[in-house]
Amino acid sequence: MSTEIENVIIIGSGPAGYTAALYASRADLNPLVIEGFVWGGLLQTTTDVENYPGFPEGVMGPEMMQKFRDQAERFGARFISHDATRVELSDDGSPHRVFVDDDEYQARAVILAMGAEHKKLGVPGEEELANSGISYCATCDAAFFRDRRIMVVGGGDSAMEEAIFLSKFGTTVQVVHRRNEFRASSIMLERAREIENIELLTPYVVDRFEPGDSGSLARAVLEHAESGEERVVEVEGAFIAIGHEPSSEIVRGQVDTDENGYVFTEGESTLTNVAGVFAAGDLVDHTYRQAVTAAGTGCQAALDAEWYLRDLPPAAEAHWMKPDEIEAMAEKVAAETRAGQRASA
Ligand code: NAP
Repeated sequence: MSTEIENVIIIGSGPAGYTAALYASRADLNPLVIEGFVWGGLLQTTTDVENYPGFPEGVMGPEMMQKFRDQAERFGARFISHDATRVELSDDGSPHRVFVDDDEYQARAVILAMGAEHKKLGVPGEEELANSGISYCATCDAAFFRDRRIMVVGGGDSAMEEAIFLSKFGTTVQVVHRRNEFRASSIMLERAREIENIELLTPYVVDRFEPGDSGSLARAVLEHAESGEERVVEVEGAFIAIGHEPSSEIVRGQVDTDENGYVFTEGESTLTNVAGVFAAGDLVDHTYRQAVTAAGTGCQAALDAEWYLRDLPPAAEAHWMKPDEIEAMAEKVAAETRAGQRASA
């Protein structure tokens, strides 16, 4: 257990976490970042990032996250490259406690920036065939499926974006969606419809994925959402694009979240319902989910934490005497008492 009470602990390390670390370190708060074993967030699994301002030629996701990290480190941010496994957020003004397995860290302020993960379908074969045909990231894995039959599962903008991108690689791209109406914006849907090798299959749900002799994905077994009729589709690549899930497990029940687990923040701030606890990035945002918007809220969270710490009354310990001062005081009182007794004798 670390006996030091930190000013601020940042949990998470995507654009939100590292930007919070940059601002907090430049504010002399000496932040401790529990960045996770696989630090860098979802951008670690992307290739070209072409929409982050300041990189006119584009930048690779992992390189960008390294730069974010280096910049925070330059101003003194400290990192623990393990996952935070548990938190105990305080509601009585005592320090918040963050655990990395059995190691405990305490802080006056905590910034939650754990981001989000790709949502899983939860059907047989999905987990077993991950990295053997099933993927959650077209930009990462499209090149493995050149001239192959590809499936995209989902009906939102992500699914359309993935399908449009994948159409340049695969012979066919079948988009499987559980309803006849798409959630995607009409512009994205129209773009996908106009591409010759994209086919929209509705209303179907994936029942299971099955491997071929090589052990890699060979087919998806679909079920018609209305009639229940089974349909077997031969595919070598399946990209699941059914949205994201916030990584809020360790704070559920301690901070307010919506029914999907996104952490609620107050108005336009990053304040959660727990004093001294702030939240930023994809953990909060189910709408924009961009690196640049996450970085923006990471900055806000550090400023909110800085203002919170500035206005915090001094800790109770600040009023306490240190043990050596108590001893000196006791000795002084004893000496004065002895002197008084001698005088009166
Ligand atoms: P989304 O809008 O929530 O869409 C998720 C899709 O997956 C929905 O069609 C949903 O079906 C389907 N789905 C969810 N769970 C499923 C399950 N268990 N089985 C089968 N299908 C399932 O998520 P998103 O597409 O990732 O988009 C998120 C946000 O980012 C949106 O605001 C979007 O506009 C934005 N975005 C924008 C762009 C762009 O403009 N270029 C690109 C990507 C994302 P139902 O429709 O039946 O619920």
